[in-house]
Amino acid sequence: MATARVGIAVMKTAQISGPGADFQIVEREIPKPGVGEVRIKVQACGVCHSDVLTKEGALPGIQYPRVPGHEVAGVIDELGEGVSEWNKGQRVGVGWHGGHDGTCSSCRRGDFRNCRNQKIAGISYDGGYQQYMVAPVEALVSIPDSLSAVEAAPLLCAGITTYNSLRHSGAFPGDLVAVQGIGGLGHLGIQFASKFGYKVAAIGRGSENAALAKKLGASMYIDSRASNAAEALQNMGGAQVILATAPNSKAMSELIDGLGPNGKLLVVGATFDPIEVTPPQLIFGSRAIQGWAAGTPADSEDTLRFAELTGVRPMIEPYPLERAGEAYARMLSGDAQFRVVLTM
Ligand SMILES: [Zn+2]
Ligand SMILES: [Zn+2]
Repeated sequence: MATARVGIAVMKTAQISGPGADFQIVEREIPKPGVGEVRIKVQACGVCHSDVLTKEGALPGIQYPRVPGHEVAGVIDELGEGVSEWNKGQRVGVGWHGGHDGTCSSCRRGDFRNCRNQKIAGISYDGGYQQYMVAPVEALVSIPDSLSAVEAAPLLCAGITTYNSLRHSGAFPGDLVAVQGIGGLGHLGIQFASKFGYKVAAIGRGSENAALAKKLGASMYIDSRASNAAEALQNMGGAQVILATAPNSKAMSELIDGLGPNGKLLVVGATFDPIEVTPPQLIFGSRAIQGWAAGTPADSEDTLRFAELTGVRPMIEPYPLERAGEAYARMLSGDAQFRVVLTM
C-alpha cells in the first residue's frame, strides 16, 4: 500500500555557515513560533553594516549557521502560544533590539535598551535574510500603513539609531549639529536633524554628495578631503553634537576639535579601530564622547511615526533575497545610494 508523504513547507534563506563564510542560499523548513513568539512573513530586510558581526563572527557566542538581518519588515503569519496583543495579518517589523529578559538590573529600571541579556535579531537568533522568521513579541514594532515594507525596514536600525540618539543628545532647535558620513545612517541622520530644527552641517569625503546633502536638509556641506572639517565647525562656533555615522575611527578622531563647549561626539558608526583623543581635548570645553545603540521597539514606533509625519524616508537600492551576497558586498563598498534592502 502506498503511503502519502506529508509535504514539508520550505522557504528560502540566506545563511552564513560559519565566521567569514560566504552567503549560501538554502532551503529550510518554515519555522514554527514558540511560546511568546510570532512568525513573520518577511517582505523586506535592510542590509546594515553591523551584519558584519554575523558574517565575520565578530561577536563571541554566535551559533552557526546563522541568518543575519535586523531591519525586518513583514506581516505576522502565525501566532505562538500565549500571544494575545498581536494579530495575524498585522504589519510588523523587527530591528536591532531583538528581545530583553525583563528581569536584569537594567530592565528592572525600565532601561530595556541596555538589557544585560539583550537579544539581537540576526545574531542571537535568525534574522530577516529569509522568507519567514520567528521573533519574540517584545521585539515587535507596529508599522503604519503609510510606510511600505522597503521604506520601513531601514528605519528600524539606521533610522531609529540616528533619530533616537539625536533626540536624546541634548541639542536644541537652532543648535549646530554635524552629521559625519553620508551613507545608510547619515542620509537619514541629516533628514532627522533637519526636521528637529538643527542647523545641519553634513560632512563627507569628496564633493559628490554636496547637492544631495542639501536636498536632504543640510544647511551646509563640508568636504573633509578638501578642507579641515573640525576647523570649519569651529569657525561657526563649534558643533553641539557631531553624529558620527561612517565606520571610520580616524575620521571621527579628526572631528573632536570641531566640538563647541559642552559638545558631544555621538558615535553610532561601528568599527573596531580605536578613536584617538587626548584628555585636554575633552577637558577644555567639557566635551564628551558617547556611543548609542538603536533603541527599543517603542522607540522604533516613535521613529516610524515621526518619519510618517515629516516625510523622512530612506533612499534604497533593492536586491532580491537570492542576491544577498551581492547586496552585502554593495553595502560594504560604501557606494550604495544609500540603504541596500533585500526583498523576498
Ligand atoms: Zn543595524
Ligand atoms: Zn534585561
